[in-house]
Amino acid sequence: MTNPRNCLSGDVIEKRLRDLAGFTDIAGQLTRLTLSPSHKNAAEHLGKLFRAAGMTTHIDPLGSLVGRYAPEGCGPRTLLIGSHIDTVRDAGIYDGNLGVMVGLSVIEAMHKGGVVPPVAIELIAFSDEEGVRFPSTLSASKALAGRFDPRCLDDLDERGIRRRGSLIAFGAPAGDPALIGRDPATTLGYVEVHIEQGPVLEAASLPLGIVTAINGVTRGEVILRGVAGHAGTLPMAMRHDALTAAAEMVLSIEERGRADKDLVATVGVLEVPGGAINVVPGRARFTFDVRAPSDALRQRAVSDIRVRIERIARARNVEAAFEITHEAEATPCDPRLSGALERHTFALGLDTIRLPSGAGHDAMSFRGVLPVAMLFVRCRGGISHNPAEFASEEDIGLSARVLYDFVMGL
Ligand SMILES: [Zn+2]
Repeated sequence: MTNPRNCLSGDVIEKRLRDLAGFTDIAGQLTRLTLSPSHKNAAEHLGKLFRAAGMTTHIDPLGSLVGRYAPEGCGPRTLLIGSHIDTVRDAGIYDGNLGVMVGLSVIEAMHKGGVVPPVAIELIAFSDEEGVRFPSTLSASKALAGRFDPRCLDDLDERGIRRRGSLIAFGAPAGDPALIGRDPATTLGYVEVHIEQGPVLEAASLPLGIVTAINGVTRGEVILRGVAGHAGTLPMAMRHDALTAAAEMVLSIEERGRADKDLVATVGVLEVPGGAINVVPGRARFTFDVRAPSDALRQRAVSDIRVRIERIARARNVEAAFEITHEAEATPCDPRLSGALERHTFALGLDTIRLPSGAGHDAMSFRGVLPVAMLFVRCRGGISHNPAEFASEEDIGLSARVLYDFVMGL
């Protein structure tokens, strides 16, 4: 009988990630948009690996590959392990794909070692996380969480192809996606291993991190109206300069973002419509994006930012219209599952930290439905959504050992 832990080596996982990266829509880079021909081929390739590792497999009505490992003697409940195999354009090979490959190696280790886990496991290679091809995203994980939104089937890509048609081309079986929601009574939770996509673990010299929550986000824009004037004739004291007001507001938003640990606040767009070198700006527009692991913290920050903007506008004699355009609640990770991931990390002699996820993940779909937990793997330079994305074989191997011990400890 094989020692189960031999299947958990990072170099095997790394090699499989490189092989999987060969399934791409564009040769010479990794671009695997949801439900594309290369996505279909990748899912077929993975399906073979899943079956060789002892799983039964199927493609679900939204194009996810689902593997089930339920050897005789495992408990009546099911743990979901997953991540996504669609990618952005010109992606790295680790984003999403890593979590699927780590889950595969854990199940393979159990299968080859004749080890029966305490729960059945479903390993899911989600089809729709990146949101590059269609306007809506997470359709597949939302359906699994029992919150399928049929409007997503009418989504159009830039070539005018609907999601409905692309699912047929993909070979996804007909069937009502509203019926594939897993039963929370028999499903223990959802766990995802993912590269951090940020620089925190690397800066702390730690291979693995425990995610506290997936940040909620508030996005909006501020439109400023002052009075345009001649740059040469208008005295400084008599100006209603929309751009200098915006500049002060941008710095104030940054300051508010820095005031709370785990809060991030960004102005990503600043425009001066009709701006010219010899005109005092009469109009300005900027966006804001505020994220935090706690909804209360985020809402407090947004309301502070609004007060600051109004104060600055008054002091500078400009009008400010403040509008929130998008809001999403945070997904807190389950303390019990996260605590178990942490304990098994410590048990390997590793130090670790808890950190929020600034990026979105399939785990968000299970908010309020199932307990979720995420394990982050350090990535070089915090770089992601970029072919330079990199996680070391050693760190990947450690994540697989933690996930294995976590499942066996349930
Ligand atoms: Zn991802």
